[in-house]
Amino acid sequence: MAYDEPSKSALQTKLVIRNIGLLLSGDLANPILDADTVVAVGDRIAAVGKEKDVDTSGATITIDAKGTALAPGLIDSHVHPVCGDWTPRQNQLGWIDSYLHGGVTTMVSAGEVHTPGRPKDVVGLKAMAIFAQRAFHAFRPGGVKIYAGAPVLEHGMVEDDFKELAAAGVKILGEVGLGSVKDGKTAHQMVSWARKYGIQSTIHTGGPSIPGSSLIDKDMVLETDADVIGHVNGGHTALPDDQIMALCERSTRALEIVHNGNERAGLLALRTAMELKQLDRVILGTDSPAGSGVQPLGILRMISLLSSLGGIPAEVAICLATGNTAKMRKLDCGLIAPGREASFVLMDKAQHSAGKNLLDSIQKGDLPGIGMVIIDGAVSAQRSRNTPPATAVPEVVT
Ligand SMILES: [Zn+2]
Repeated sequence: MAYDEPSKSALQTKLVIRNIGLLLSGDLANPILDADTVVAVGDRIAAVGKEKDVDTSGATITIDAKGTALAPGLIDSHVHPVCGDWTPRQNQLGWIDSYLHGGVTTMVSAGEVHTPGRPKDVVGLKAMAIFAQRAFHAFRPGGVKIYAGAPVLEHGMVEDDFKELAAAGVKILGEVGLGSVKDGKTAHQMVSWARKYGIQSTIHTGGPSIPGSSLIDKDMVLETDADVIGHVNGGHTALPDDQIMALCERSTRALEIVHNGNERAGLLALRTAMELKQLDRVILGTDSPAGSGVQPLGILRMISLLSSLGGIPAEVAICLATGNTAKMRKLDCGLIAPGREASFVLMDKAQHSAGKNLLDSIQKGDLPGIGMVIIDGAVSAQRSRNTPPATAVPEVVT
């Protein structure tokens, strides 16, 4: 029996956001839009344009952006959730709600591997994946959408297991290499079965993350051929430079750069992708919670790092964390365009930043100040409690 997703609520709210000073699309091909107004009906974007050209009548909520910038809600391509808004990794409560205050509206699980007592037998790991998918679908801390239920590969899994997982609603695998399957041949076979049934895969890249995990080198990554080369800059220990460059050159899969990786290696992967004219493959994650902690501002810090030290315009860096990740992860958020998910982050340059404006401040290495976060057309957070204070802050006017 196929699993049917619960139907979306048919709320017909109409959200109008006007007086937007800078509209960042999330689309690498056209990162800045010539528009100042966004209209959303229910949980979808209905119109984007100049205020005089779009239908703003009948708004149930109107927001004056006060000239600040609007971008798609940020996506964290690599998190390790466990249960609700608790992480045992640093024994913290409320970590997901804290990421909301860093502009993150969507998270993708790379495996619920921190679960204490995680089952490693096949029936147990399938049950846990289905449980995690259901639980995070039903419970969204702060409104953040968490795509979870990501089983890791263990020896003994057969094709029917992937068929069964897919029919049960599982759409992603946890990082290949975190379970007992650590050889390219077996991993390639299992990733191929997963792909056949529409389940996307990610592979751990680099040295072991914690005692008990192990090295995954470029040969195993290339042989496995997972959809996403997870933390190509290591998590935290990176592969040697020639191996990172070989992964960029010899694979066509997504190149994920994470906060909990080697920053120098992240910049190398970015530069190599740019030289190959394949920036569309670069996506961003935090790989958190982890040994180095919970990082509510991790995605913003990656945007600032890659822009200030990697030499890409801030509006392009923002595309890596929005439209690029949405495309690679097959999500319908991440772009400001009619029909897409109405999830936004409104930002301005931080108070007293040396930057001339928001984009210049990011290019100078500062973090932006977040003034509001909207998920599915509803305000989830106003002035962020975590970023430096934004200079101007949007206001709900009706
Ligand atoms: Zn990893």
